[in-house]
Amino acid sequence: MFSILKQVGDYAKGTVEAAKYIGQGLSVTFDHMRRRPVTVQYPYEKLIPSERYRGRIHFEFDKCIACEVCVRVCPINLPVVDWEFNKDAKKKELKHYSIDFGVCIFCGNCVEYCPTNCLSMTEEYELAAYDRHELNYDNVALGRLPYKVTQDPMVTPLRELGYLPKGVISPHDLPEGSQRAGKRPEEIIEEAEASS
Ligand code: SF4
Ligand code: SF4
Repeated sequence: MFSILKQVGDYAKGTVEAAKYIGQGLSVTFDHMRRRPVTVQYPYEKLIPSERYRGRIHFEFDKCIACEVCVRVCPINLPVVDWEFNKDAKKKELKHYSIDFGVCIFCGNCVEYCPTNCLSMTEEYELAAYDRHELNYDNVALGRLPYKVTQDPMVTPLRELGYLPKGVISPHDLPEGSQRAGKRPEEIIEEAEASS
């Protein structure tokens, strides 16, 4: 008889303890509900990619000398450089250039090694298409100006965490007139001139 009562007592104690822990857990959960969500509401809000973001490649036809360095440094020899030798001018003449973004891994090697800087990486990452052949960009498509998050009137651009002012962790509630982290080039020049 006594042992049954003890068991009931222990069970009741255990239940009360478990209920206490559940209550504590729920209070933490409800406390989180009071905070502002840190969600970025794509597609109405978009994060501004960082300066060195490796998005879609931009190509300038007039600058390309058809040296094919971009092909050689590409891990999959992807860029297609179609040229003809111009016997009169005694130099290569570029006919077509294309990169298939369905195959590209956006490593940026081609951009890094191009001797004439005719390749560059843009901040454009929305390249989805219904047909994979549409991802094969020719020199005209590659030369198109990139989409910019900051120039889209439908989009609220938000700064990434590394570009928020000191002490701020949410891109939504930025203090008035706050700059991106780091100094602007003109500020660096001003400081250098003042100290010299
Ligand atoms: S490395 Fe640059 S210049 Fe040479 S073929 Fe490629 S894009 Fe043209
Ligand atoms: S980014 Fe990389 S994978 Fe894409 S074309 Fe250039 S070198 Fe090739």
